[in-house]
Amino acid sequence: MTTITLETVRALDSEDPLADFRDRFVLPEGLVYLDGNSLGAMPKTVPDRVAAMLHDEWGRHLIGGWLKDSWMEKPLALGDRLAGLVGAGAGEVAVVDTTSINVFKLLAAALAMRPDRRVILSNPENFPTDLYMAQGLIEQLGGRHELRLVPEAEVADALDDDVAVVMLTETNFKTGAVFDMAGVTRAAHAAGALTLWDLAHSAGAFPVDLNGAGADFAVGCSYKYLNAGPGGPAWMFVAARHQETAHQPLTGWLGHDRPFDFDLDYRPADGIRRHVCSSPGILGLVAFEAALDVMLEADMAVIRRKSVVLGDLFIALVEQECGDAGFRLISPRDAALTPPWGRGSQVSFAHPDGYGIVQALIARGVVGDFRDPDVMRFGFAPLYQRYEDVWRAVAEMRAVLDAGEHLADAYRNRASVT
Ligand SMILES: *Cc1c(COP(=O)(O)O)cnc(C)c1O
Repeated sequence: MTTITLETVRALDSEDPLADFRDRFVLPEGLVYLDGNSLGAMPKTVPDRVAAMLHDEWGRHLIGGWLKDSWMEKPLALGDRLAGLVGAGAGEVAVVDTTSINVFKLLAAALAMRPDRRVILSNPENFPTDLYMAQGLIEQLGGRHELRLVPEAEVADALDDDVAVVMLTETNFKTGAVFDMAGVTRAAHAAGALTLWDLAHSAGAFPVDLNGAGADFAVGCSYKYLNAGPGGPAWMFVAARHQETAHQPLTGWLGHDRPFDFDLDYRPADGIRRHVCSSPGILGLVAFEAALDVMLEADMAVIRRKSVVLGDLFIALVEQECGDAGFRLISPRDAALTPPWGRGSQVSFAHPDGYGIVQALIARGVVGDFRDPDVMRFGFAPLYQRYEDVWRAVAEMRAVLDAGEHLADAYRNRASVT
């Protein structure tokens, strides 16, 4: 294999069709930020758009803003804008609540649609909040249901006629491995089950095709690859064919057919609107809208191409420069999204000193993160990352290892957020 040099890497930057996007984001000077898979960077337009909402809309229009500034319509209007990125149609996506709450709502809806079945099928590699929400729901429903966990690769084989819903996260948050959403959905449907996909690490990272895959329900968050800011509002998808029959249990007034009639009895609105529970948080929605506008200027196929090259380059450089360090690649080496697995926009290596290495890298201005027990995660956000950032990250990694910085006492105990 030919050696990768700084010149090779700089040549990639000079030919990068997305190079101009970097300047659209606020990034501290000198920082290499490889954690956009946890919290995306801030687009420069976000503070201005939020300030304009505060001063021009709330400040001037007060309560009139709900109509004049279309605040009330934002969860669905923004959902329609997002729909194209995830392969959904108009009226199939709402931007509401949080990912966990949307899991609860849609899982409850799915179970009610399969009253004769009692199993929620998932995997132990799933993001724990999804499993916790399922556990809470099962308790709420009287303990009649079962959360059945089988290893990722065995999910399709574990389907039987007791499975009501298959609840999976498309992109594994530790390894970045991407499930075959279409294949698993097909198998679930053949067994009479519904599917609920969590796309937290998928939307904005690579092309997603919910309707192409035949998905029934999906959720995702906005603050990772979609750059909406900490705790930004989540989104949810209900396939058009289920919108009449899917009922969620958080029956707040804004999911009512006519909220301003102030009826005493709940009557669900038509379509995706019934999944809105409460008054939408406009500040968060406006930040998301501004961030989404930036992403929609880029072509997702081009974003994906760069993401693959960034990840491939990172793997090759780590192996070239730190091949003796005992890193174990736990992400798929082949990024291609061909069944059974592909790779999302993150690369993870396992190492017994992983926590210390990540912390020492952060001290050197290279931000990745760590997941128990030994996983170092590095996320790639093609809109604001340069190929040279990858070079710098690996050079700093080599320096950390040479100086033994990762073995410092300060890194013996883990912080509360890793
Ligand atoms: C980040 C993430 C979440 C986050 O859930 P919140 O309710 O927004 O805190 C949920 N699911 C997955 C798979 C995630 O990666």
